[in-house]
Amino acid sequence: MSTEKILVTGGAGYIGSHACVELMQAGYDVIVIDNLSNSKPESLARVEKITSKSLVFVEADICDKQALSDIFSAHDIYAVMHFAGLKAVGESCLQPIKYYQNNVYGTLVLTEVMQAFAVNKIIFSSSATVYGEPDTVKYTEDLPVFGATNPYGKSKAMVEDILKDLAQADSLSNTENPWKIILLRYFNPIGAHISGLIGEDPNGIPNNLIPYVSQVAVGKLEQLSVFGGDYPTIDGTGVRDYIHVVDLVKGHLNALAALKNTSGCKAYNLGAGKGYSVLEIITAFTRITGKDINYKIVERRTGDIAEYYADPDLALRELNWQTEKSLDDMISDTWRWQSANPNGYE
Ligand code: NAD
Ligand code: UDP
Repeated sequence: MSTEKILVTGGAGYIGSHACVELMQAGYDVIVIDNLSNSKPESLARVEKITSKSLVFVEADICDKQALSDIFSAHDIYAVMHFAGLKAVGESCLQPIKYYQNNVYGTLVLTEVMQAFAVNKIIFSSSATVYGEPDTVKYTEDLPVFGATNPYGKSKAMVEDILKDLAQADSLSNTENPWKIILLRYFNPIGAHISGLIGEDPNGIPNNLIPYVSQVAVGKLEQLSVFGGDYPTIDGTGVRDYIHVVDLVKGHLNALAALKNTSGCKAYNLGAGKGYSVLEIITAFTRITGKDINYKIVERRTGDIAEYYADPDLALRELNWQTEKSLDDMISDTWRWQSANPNGYE
């Protein structure tokens, strides 16, 4: 058991709250900074309920240098898990400044304060979207980070560049405290903690498939629009690599352990290595929940790719991590959370 202190930015959010649970259960002390722009403090109360432990919560923005400095002054932080960020692709196209400000500038402030306090370990929530639209469906980490199609994806690629440059700068100087950075490129995180107490709680009408399907199943939404039925995939609908959120955050704990022996900046895919189509998801959802999903195939969504999934081999070799949960686990855990909390944390 470790008693190191981990600063979790965005810890009240969907993935951050699950990370807090796994960290606390592994014995880490957790300090959360979150401005609650896309979350509710109730998620952290539930984290404490699941773990029977308490965490430190600071309601503040990562762009607020003073607030961050106060946290690093008050706590001897071992490493940072950096989840804080805005993530809505469509909104990022309408409000690019907001996205670059929050995601890129926020990370600059965070790393500046980390450097001032000689905290050199960070794990960053990146995304498969940084690969743009490569000529392959199986993504390996050595593909170029190039061609993200929207400001959200570009902000992730920019932050990756900034973090790589920090490591590069170390290699040019003889610093005694070089950066140790891991970029984790998520595929499609879904599911919820097995307790049903925490899960994804999107604001308004969801953009993503699983929250949308869940709300159709629970009766909050009428009909799912399936975006495109004529892709060159097994059944014409889009194929993605869905990964259980608990598997995903366990990848972060393995990355945290690996940071001790990491030098510089390394990127890893976190995915299952297998894709499922939208229709396969609907069929599995119906089978597991017993609810019919009313859906209609409509036009393709602008910017969508037909099919992609992770090559997760590097994470297996170097982080000793692979997914353990099945699609059935992902859907039954989503359903447990959704049916027990039809209005999320409200
Ligand atoms: P989320 O919106 O549920 O969580 C993000 C949290 O960060 C929220 O609690 C929000 O209030 C907080 N936050 C945002 N900006 C902040 C700021 N400036 N200061 C302090 N707190 C701030 O999203 P999530 O799904 O948990 O995603 C976590 C991270 O993983 C994000 O960086 C996201 O881009 C990345 N990611 C998510 C997915 C996904 O499908 N969920 C896929 C790839 C990458
Ligand atoms: N999708 C869909 N209807 C929806 C939302 C998503 O058909 O209401 C499809 C989308 O076209 C893609 C897959 O579901 O093929 C996953 O989309 P999501 O938005 O969840 O994640 P993305 O892969 O776009 O990040």
